[in-house]
Amino acid sequence: MRSHLIVGNWKMNGSLAANQDLLLAIKKDLGQPSCKVAVCVPALYVSQVQNLCTASPVLWGAQDVSSFESGAFTGEMSANMLRDFGVRYVLCGHSERRQYHGETDETVALKAQRALASGITPIVCLGETLAQRDAGETAEVVKRQLAAVIHANGHCISEIVVAYEPVWAIGTGKTASPEQAQEVHAMLRRQLAAASKQAEGIAILYGGSMNASNAVSLLSQPDINGGLVGGASLKAADFLSIVAAASQ
Ligand code: PEP
Repeated sequence: MRSHLIVGNWKMNGSLAANQDLLLAIKKDLGQPSCKVAVCVPALYVSQVQNLCTASPVLWGAQDVSSFESGAFTGEMSANMLRDFGVRYVLCGHSERRQYHGETDETVALKAQRALASGITPIVCLGETLAQRDAGETAEVVKRQLAAVIHANGHCISEIVVAYEPVWAIGTGKTASPEQAQEVHAMLRRQLAAASKQAEGIAILYGGSMNASNAVSLLSQPDINGGLVGGASLKAADFLSIVAAASQ
């Protein structure tokens, strides 16, 4: 059976000192969790986090990757560069990148392709805005976002992780109810199943104000296979509670 995966998204937070404190506190009380645990950190700190997490259960990842292999793309970071630093996961198409950096479904799909080609697992983020939910467009939006990734990644699709993150729930304290989230996750699972015989093995994470109090009910849904955690991943106690909920 697939174990849960809990991924912290630190966003643009941290410092050398704060990262060290946070990771030492997490490692101190983590033990040997029965779920997988990872942190996606600002690119500059990947090397520091690699040093702190090597030989621990905590895996590390990045928050973005270039859709190009190499060359004249000032400011970009390639998948091969990330692999040099032991990166295991990379977020692709987080809603903040779609919103503030104009990432399209096609760009996100190419980023996932680059990650896979370098042996890094892309965590493909998708989700609807509040206006889209209110207009009854949730299914259409998330299916379109996932279809682009399936189209570009074909037979490798079973290697990805999907994160359903309703945009209205990110950083707002509003969470999708377990039933609302399960409904979307089940729909995404059906879409993946039409593309791959291994769809049952694809982890579909929920993200959006997951915290110590709501984690158990969200993670007990049959198609919610873990969490992508923003704010609550910056406090060791909160992150550890979510990991504990995922390990039940
Ligand atoms: C995120 O950034 O992916 C996220 C889910 O943030 P938060 O948990 O703070 O809503």
